[in-house]
Amino acid sequence: MEGMCDRALLAQKAAKDNYITHFAYYDDSMRRQLLDEQMIISEMQSALEQRQFVIYLQPQVELESGRAIGAEALVRWNHPQKGLIPPGSFIPVFEKNGLIMKLDEYVWEETCAVISRWKKEGREILPVSVNLSRVDIYNPNLCDLLCSLVERYDLPAGILNLEVTESAYVEKPLQLIEVIEKLRLHGFVLEMDDFGSGYSSLNSLKNLPVDVLKLDLQFLVGDEETSGKGGNIITAVVMMAKWLNLKVLAEGVETKAQAEYLKAIGCEYAQGYYFARPMPVEDFERFMENM
Ligand code: C2E
Ligand code: CA
Ligand code: CA
Repeated sequence: MEGMCDRALLAQKAAKDNYITHFAYYDDSMRRQLLDEQMIISEMQSALEQRQFVIYLQPQVELESGRAIGAEALVRWNHPQKGLIPPGSFIPVFEKNGLIMKLDEYVWEETCAVISRWKKEGREILPVSVNLSRVDIYNPNLCDLLCSLVERYDLPAGILNLEVTESAYVEKPLQLIEVIEKLRLHGFVLEMDDFGSGYSSLNSLKNLPVDVLKLDLQFLVGDEETSGKGGNIITAVVMMAKWLNLKVLAEGVETKAQAEYLKAIGCEYAQGYYFARPMPVEDFERFMENM
């Protein structure tokens, strides 16, 4: 009986914020999701201590030459029983309870360690972009933390690029502007992630002093061909970014046609499965050797 009630409550939760349907059926995926979340909460602290998180690198290329000009570091959880878990499954849970700051710091440090090793091994060193969460922006020590990090690894700030999402702008615009200005003064390159996904894109574009605009093709065109309305929007955004002296990097580029379209409208940089998927650091090094 108790079990049945628990399950009914889970189903009820699913219908609660839905104004269209007023009922929901329980199915086992609801229970599994809850269990997964509880697993993540109970294991995250020890997973961090045991360094179970790894970074994957996805190349960013210059469209004209096809050369890699940088990479984005994307975290994965290498779980001893469950294998590789993608960030979408655990980042939201980490964001809820604040542990995301620890995880992000870990990723930034891993990234600096990799770049510093490249330097020692005499490899070509490229800037790597890391992701900042909204919570990081509100951390008053953020700038000190990042500055001492690059200093400790004897790297210039311009090698660790910082991606912030525009959704942070919606919540506390002034604070975000202030943080970005401070970080840029210290030499960091700021990128606006997922441009076009939020409600305030044009406002944030006008007010946020970023260096690079990351346009996500999935948000702007979805499955549609770039020849449609989505294509016009992208063209307009690329033009606008040029007027504002911003670099544009299109992400989520999956096909040759998309890459060519972007090149034709003057978008200079791109990232996506068409060029390469995110890969373990060793694979990335081999990828660079064969470029
Ligand atoms: P994001 O920052 O927008 O990262 C890009 C995501 O798009 C990555 O997913 C990447 O694998 C995926 N992607 C790359 N190329 C393509 C493509 O051609 N088509 C499609 N459909 N997708 C593509 P991933 O690695 O699963 O990461 C998901 C999100 O998790 C990231 O989105 C980011 O918001 C978050 N994330 C990842 N690593 C970190 C981290 O260290 N810290 C924080 N705070 N968030 C992270
Ligand atoms: Ca990103
Ligand atoms: Ca993105």
